[in-house]
Amino acid sequence: MNKYEPVIGLEIHVQLKTKSKMFCSCDNTGEDKPANTTVCPICLGHPGVLPVPNEVAMRWAVMAALALNCTIRRSIHFDRKSYFYPDLPKGFQISQYDAPVGQNGHLMITAGGTHAHIRIERVHIEEDTGKLLHEEDKSASYVDYNRAGTPLLEIVTRPDVPSPAAAKAFLQELRLTMRYLGISDADMEKGHLRCDANISLRPNPEFFQEKGENALIGYEPDRLYPKTEVKNLNSFKSVEHALEYEIKRQTKLWDEGKTPKAQSTRGWDEKRMVSVLQRVKEEQHDYRYFPEPDIPPITFDSEFIASVKQAMVELPFEKHERFGKQYWLGDYDASILVNDKKLADYYESVVSELRAWLVSLDSTEGSEDEAWERDGKKLTKAAANWIISRLLKLLNEHGKRISEVNITPENFAELMVLVYEHKLNNRTAVTVLEKMFLDGRDPSDIMEEEDLGQLSKTKELGTVVKEVIQSNERVVQEFRAGKEQALKYLIGQVMKRTKGRADPEAVQQFLTHALK
Ligand SMILES: [Zn+2]
Repeated sequence: MNKYEPVIGLEIHVQLKTKSKMFCSCDNTGEDKPANTTVCPICLGHPGVLPVPNEVAMRWAVMAALALNCTIRRSIHFDRKSYFYPDLPKGFQISQYDAPVGQNGHLMITAGGTHAHIRIERVHIEEDTGKLLHEEDKSASYVDYNRAGTPLLEIVTRPDVPSPAAAKAFLQELRLTMRYLGISDADMEKGHLRCDANISLRPNPEFFQEKGENALIGYEPDRLYPKTEVKNLNSFKSVEHALEYEIKRQTKLWDEGKTPKAQSTRGWDEKRMVSVLQRVKEEQHDYRYFPEPDIPPITFDSEFIASVKQAMVELPFEKHERFGKQYWLGDYDASILVNDKKLADYYESVVSELRAWLVSLDSTEGSEDEAWERDGKKLTKAAANWIISRLLKLLNEHGKRISEVNITPENFAELMVLVYEHKLNNRTAVTVLEKMFLDGRDPSDIMEEEDLGQLSKTKELGTVVKEVIQSNERVVQEFRAGKEQALKYLIGQVMKRTKGRADPEAVQQFLTHALK
């Protein structure tokens, strides 16, 4: 048990991939364009211009807040946050202070095999700043305003994150949710999703209770100690590493009796794996927030909120649950499939083909649902296994994504059926899949053309078994003398002569029968 427990909260910024910027009609894809080419007087903050909120961005902000189970405010307004920094052309940022889009939400995550419920304090919308670029020798700095005015969601959690691993899991779930909604690529490496982490420690009451009652004197259960804000976290790994480092660093301070007295900001150096003090905050910064006078308050009526809800897709957490129930999948299989919406869609198409095939069999008795309940489990499991262990491997090897695969779900399902009916064994099925992957051909065509069909009860297999017995007299004698291992060798010989096309189980039956 740890002596101290970490108190972790996250503040995340997510760029929305709308066509135009938040308050002007500038192209919002300036990330890949030459510096300062996607700008206009509005996003540069020239005097006398009028910002107009982007309707799509407003809709998406409401959608994100709903996905995070927030309460949507019926009336919102924007505020000016005043501060000076060269990447902020106006000298203030249009943000939201006391009337954010959404409040009091939560997101469920799974970390280390357990579910955690992370509360969301608020979701608000604001505009992004420009980017500063510095010469390596620090002789000059440049500013690129292409990003200035990009719509940005700010998502603030309550200090509920139980561990560094959970912080990483939260961000991964958040990224997936944004991708499912189709509102952001949420790529941390590209800065579409940026995170600052707040962390402090406090005595763990369970630990001190064990030590005896006196140890708890002075313990205040609800007290939060001055926190450290860690910045410059640009990958999931760095979030986890930085928090682990901070727990160690702060534990040492507590052990030495030097509990932090003031809030501080530290930058994470991923190369050196240390956090570096940037500044100690003596008091709260005064941003002099006041309502943005150029944008009237906005009202969301029930009709609008209902229309946003209706346009929402099934969320990853819901899909995961449904895959478990509907397709009998375990957590591992479900999470791999759900982790990529297109992969999950592909899987569902394959399964729907398999279901259609199964219920069409003459021998299938009872209703469609009964047939599926009885035999579907094997098929859904097999399809998940083949997609996860074989298809994903091929995609990786060829540097392709599931959207680029040229195997139709119908053909993939047919391959599963060929295995299910023992027309292909696992080994030959892999060969067929590899060929399908290259040219998108039908699996039964490949099987026939390449003569890969399984030999099971055919005359041909009988002949091969006879040949193997005749040419391995010594091994046969060993088997008859009771050496079980000898049978394995003989099976191997048959498999070799049939070039892997035989069904190993059928071979074993043939051999034991012939050797009696
Ligand atoms: Zn503009």
